[in-house]
Amino acid sequence: MKNGIYLVASPIGNMGDISLRALEVLKNAAVIACEDSRIAKKLLSLLAISSSGKIFVIMHDHNEEETAQKVIDLALAGNIVAYISDAGSPLISDPGYKLVRLCRKQNVYLTTVPGSCAAICALQLSGLPSDKFLFAGFIPNKDKARKETLSRYKDVEATLIFYETANRLLKTLSTAADIFGRREMAVAREITKLYEECRAGTAAELAEYYAANPPKGEIVLLVAPPEEKETVDYQAELAVELQKGSLKTAVQKITEKYGLNKNEVYQAALELKNGR
Ligand code: SAM
Repeated sequence: MKNGIYLVASPIGNMGDISLRALEVLKNAAVIACEDSRIAKKLLSLLAISSSGKIFVIMHDHNEEETAQKVIDLALAGNIVAYISDAGSPLISDPGYKLVRLCRKQNVYLTTVPGSCAAICALQLSGLPSDKFLFAGFIPNKDKARKETLSRYKDVEATLIFYETANRLLKTLSTAADIFGRREMAVAREITKLYEECRAGTAAELAEYYAANPPKGEIVLLVAPPEEKETVDYQAELAVELQKGSLKTAVQKITEKYGLNKNEVYQAALELKNGR
């Protein structure tokens, strides 16, 4: 096996998902670069690989810049270096990008040992179109940033994939209901683990389900691409609804009926009301 840096994917829940190549690299590596040495040692132990004699270098989001050169130097000194994140594929919402950039500028052997990635597994399970997808990482925690992030990707003609946490899911689904209307979504939870679940529905349906069944564990959230843009001529119907009831009710009825963007319908309703 060549000396150099190996980006090694580890399982996201089921130890059986480690690859034969990953096992070989982890056994032979003199250096394990990792986010957390306790998690890395636990992984090695579950794989029946001894940690003794191996050098562990901690490389995480906050020290990657400084540590990357140290990792490269260890490889250039003739070592096999395995880089593993806490779970899944390195660099995918995990550190490693700066290390790879630095490797590109130096004459160090770099390769990938592929394996589990929650985003890809979720896409496979979701039943949503898999021909084109956009992975957008974690959804921000703050209300304004969350809304901006979901709105930014609204018109992308691909399945959207986000990482999310269990305690934020309901808030996100509520924001998603306003932005995506009746578009199909999916929540993939605890993939490859005992309580694996993948549930599809509109944001409102998923919110109702998870309000009654509080979610636990790790979560990937997916949104179907927008429908082919056939222009829905809802103006006349909206005008009738505005005569029948309040602006809020009219907007809600039309938004839900045609799966439209709430803000767009709201603007149209205001213009109709103001006689424009
Ligand atoms: N690098 C990892 C990968 O390849 O998927 C992702 C690391 S990121 C820090 C962790 C997030 O990935 C979790 O918060 C969750 O959104 C998602 N995730 C990881 N494992 C998962 C699983 N078994 N089921 C569902 N989502 C998972």
